Amino acid sequence: MGDDRITLVSGNWKMHENHFEALKLVQELAALLRASGVPEGREVSIHPTFTSLRTVQTAVETDHVPVALGAQTCHYEVRGAFTGEVSAEMLAKLNVAYVLAGHSERRLYCGETDEIVRRKVDAILANGMRAIVCVGESAEQRSSGEAMSVVTAQVASAVGGRDAEVAGAMVIAYEPLWAIGSGQSATVADAQEMCAAIREEVGRLAGAGAAATVRVQYGGSVTPDTAGALLEAPDVDGVLVGGASLDAERFMGIVRAGQ
Ligand code: PEP
Repeated sequence: MGDDRITLVSGNWKMHENHFEALKLVQELAALLRASGVPEGREVSIHPTFTSLRTVQTAVETDHVPVALGAQTCHYEVRGAFTGEVSAEMLAKLNVAYVLAGHSERRLYCGETDEIVRRKVDAILANGMRAIVCVGESAEQRSSGEAMSVVTAQVASAVGGRDAEVAGAMVIAYEPLWAIGSGQSATVADAQEMCAAIREEVGRLAGAGAAATVRVQYGGSVTPDTAGALLEAPDVDGVLVGGASLDAERFMGIVRAGQ
């Protein structure tokens, strides 16, 4: 990773862990963090379900657990007749720091388009939180040589037209769809190539200063064994972890990878 960008290791708990289980998981994580801490130059965020956010927030704040609270999505409207939805402001009131926007599972199963993702990012930023914008190509798009154009178009939609400072404070997670939950991670070379291309696209959209500070994560079947090499790649500034974040020991193995 780049010298002065803080590495962000994020755990996406997806639709796992009811609030009792979430409390147990955060307590296990807290115990491991008490023993070894978060390595210098690294930051950790955890993204439980909406129903567990308040419980996890209380545990994290009461025990001073060195993790940032994250959410998995939000609605783009401020309030209104949107049954079942949760606004960005509601998340901000729980001291949520990071919100995922456009995870591929939401693009696939919930019909989130680039336009909707952009509006979500607007709402996240308007409420003082940081967006982790998820982008990535399908297996078919990769084999037909479209991976780069698909990913840069998703980045352009979420980042284009924003001030350099705002763009530079964003996090973009490169998550190839074929690597998520499949056990088949991208190679370090492929992850580095795409993360560098994303940084270059941010530079084209918002300038060299933004490109230098934007953080680009890799996500897709990251494990304690693969994380170290990925985090050493110069343009990989962190990892977004699904499955392996549900086990405190394995997640800590990723947090500490390469140290
Ligand atoms: C994810 O949920 O964003 C993810 C990358 O999942 P997994 O680590 O299980 O592939």
